[in-house]
Amino acid sequence: MAAATELTAPSPLAEYGAQVSACTRCRLAQGRTQVVFGSGSPTADLMFVGEAPGFHEDRQGLPFVGQAGKLLEQLLAGIGLGRPDVYIANVLKCRPPGNRDPQPDEIEACESHLFRQIELIEPVVIGTLGNFATKLLSGRPTGITRVHGQEQETTIAGRRVLLYPLYHPAAALYTPAMLKVLESDFARLPELLGRELVPPAPPEPVFELVAPQPAVQLGLF
Ligand code: URA
Repeated sequence: MAAATELTAPSPLAEYGAQVSACTRCRLAQGRTQVVFGSGSPTADLMFVGEAPGFHEDRQGLPFVGQAGKLLEQLLAGIGLGRPDVYIANVLKCRPPGNRDPQPDEIEACESHLFRQIELIEPVVIGTLGNFATKLLSGRPTGITRVHGQEQETTIAGRRVLLYPLYHPAAALYTPAMLKVLESDFARLPELLGRELVPPAPPEPVFELVAPQPAVQLGLF
């Protein structure tokens, strides 16, 4: 029989979450109730990344528990999934005051937490919800209106993943046309989860340019 300690051993992700709960890398540490690390399956194939915790998330310590979270749950139910089947995190782990936009230095301070989460979870598809997550994880400045619904294969934390930019549910809550688009983009997730990802090509060998040497005449006698 397995020892009790084995049965209750925290996952590496939970251990990392415990470390991050004391993070003071940026000013947001001062105003938060708690760090909102993320929630869901630590081995999920499908991960979502939103922007930052809001009022309710800060109070409860869980991502997407407000109105936007309810919509996310409905969208998940539409493809036969629930919160325990996926992992949900944010670009920022602490609530910005008044729910203002994340600032560049806050994203920079926090991004390694997200990259470590991705490394530990090893998702196949990452749905980036809105501009901040899409720009950070794609490494490109193109906004969500132009790239939503267009999957892009990329390497994150040394592994191939399919990034799938989606409108943020909070934006779709108030714009019926955006909600329609979000629903139809969401409906493609099961197909994307079944995709085979091409491993990255090995790096090209580097040849040094060597100046030609003059031919050496070998005297036979
Ligand atoms: N709740 C979150 O956790 N993240 C968001 O981006 C919005 C609401």
